[in-house]
Amino acid sequence: MSEHSADFDALMRTLLGERGWLTEPADVASHGRDWLKRFGATPLGVARPATTEEVAEVVKACAAHGVSISPQGGNTGLAGASVLSAGETGIILSLSRMNRIVTIDPVDFTATVEAGVVLEALHARLADQQLMFPLHLGAQGSAQIGGLIGTNAGGSHAMRYGMMQDLVLGLEVVLPDGSVLDGARALIKDNAGYQLRRLFCGAEGTLGIVTRAVLRLYPAPVARSTALLALENLDAALQVGAFLRSRAGEFLTAMEFFNELGLGLACKHVAGLVPPLETRGPVYLLVELSTSIPKIELDAIVEDALAACFEAGTVLDGAIAANEAQRTAFWRLREEMPEGQRLEGPQIKHDVAAPVSRLAEFVAAASAAADAVLPGIRVNPFGHLGDGNVHFNLTPPEGAADFQGREDALSEAIYNAVIAHDGTISAEHGIGQAKVALADGYRPAAERELMRQIKRAVDPRQLFNPGKIVRW
Ligand code: FAD
Repeated sequence: MSEHSADFDALMRTLLGERGWLTEPADVASHGRDWLKRFGATPLGVARPATTEEVAEVVKACAAHGVSISPQGGNTGLAGASVLSAGETGIILSLSRMNRIVTIDPVDFTATVEAGVVLEALHARLADQQLMFPLHLGAQGSAQIGGLIGTNAGGSHAMRYGMMQDLVLGLEVVLPDGSVLDGARALIKDNAGYQLRRLFCGAEGTLGIVTRAVLRLYPAPVARSTALLALENLDAALQVGAFLRSRAGEFLTAMEFFNELGLGLACKHVAGLVPPLETRGPVYLLVELSTSIPKIELDAIVEDALAACFEAGTVLDGAIAANEAQRTAFWRLREEMPEGQRLEGPQIKHDVAAPVSRLAEFVAAASAAADAVLPGIRVNPFGHLGDGNVHFNLTPPEGAADFQGREDALSEAIYNAVIAHDGTISAEHGIGQAKVALADGYRPAAERELMRQIKRAVDPRQLFNPGKIVRW
């Protein structure tokens, strides 16, 4: 250890104590690499402050020693944003010890929580209070509120409740100079200036460290109606989706799509999955309505809408879940898409989005472009029809062991297609290290320059997560 880092180490130990400053390789290892084990570097240590004041002290100490900071929540992010870049001299600042649910307010419909609260713990706490925080995702057993804010997480219910930026009313944030921005207010209307809280949603820890958040709650649903439909193609799914929106209004909570290939891979590799409809695809739509009002007949709304769709010929087959077990079985089909594809072998994933109206057009264009690069490639697009977010995933042609060195050309074809359809190269997983060069390449010049200016203004010394989101 150099003299410089020995001083720093001693300072951190004094500030945080033994529990709050980890340097043993065994303790540091899991924090040093990202979820997908693609990115990371060994940090000088892992700081685990227990209070906002300690976070501020750590930030000041790092600033004084020229040490960068990667804020970290559950480390489930998929873009390499919560770990150091190769060659970086920095620390991980884990919010895990700041995990108190401070208040639940049933009048404001808010929860005030520390940044390290795990999403599932918040769900559990609300379960017996007829309240709900409407963000649900596969990583909810580990992902923390600070990380969800950092990535502006989405998930399956974003079409009804929005992304994290729509669920955050107020934030307390430690800034790169160690000062504390106290904006943890429970106001729906607050136009007293720039919407600063939004700046930190999706900022991937590059502008500030969230220490506390005031989150928006909703009444818990008392009833759901869930249907699985088979359709001719994605165009038909869009038509049905638009029709359901007009018929089901605010009750429509999720519309998820997948195709025959994805269903086949999931059923082949994941135990217990069975295609529930007699008619096979080629495209499937999972639709869910929910309500907190006991007297609303959701099944009747779905039945009426589906009858009209059958009559119009837009739906080939369909079933409404008769009970909770069947509902879970329908959802599992969708949720096991990634696992089915992973177990099939090599894959390339793209988290992209297009305007809902252009989704089918985009998927067709991107599929053709991928096939032109590698004939026979298996295209497995699935995702959130209600908000246009597609996980445009690829599997090698039947019988091929890999992508024959065409990975970059394939990704380029997909990203060019999504941009040509007024879409985005990152929908819900963010930019991090994984896409920073790509994003800078695709961003319009004015957007790129404004992002750089914001970063320079807030963090002139590049202390927080340097090299993530936007390059200097
Ligand atoms: P981390 O991975 O620890 O950090 C993510 C980013 O936030 C980093 O840039 C980090 O520096 C920053 N950060 C962490 N804490 C703070 C803080 N306190 N203040 C400021 N910045 C901070 N994402 C979706 O949007 N929708 C999905 O449906 C979805 N499904 C997933 C399913 C699985 C199985 C997995 C593994 C991931 C999934 N994700 C999904 C991605 C991931 O779960 C989310 O990005 C989540 O928001 C990350 O939370 P985290 O606490 O793990 O954050």
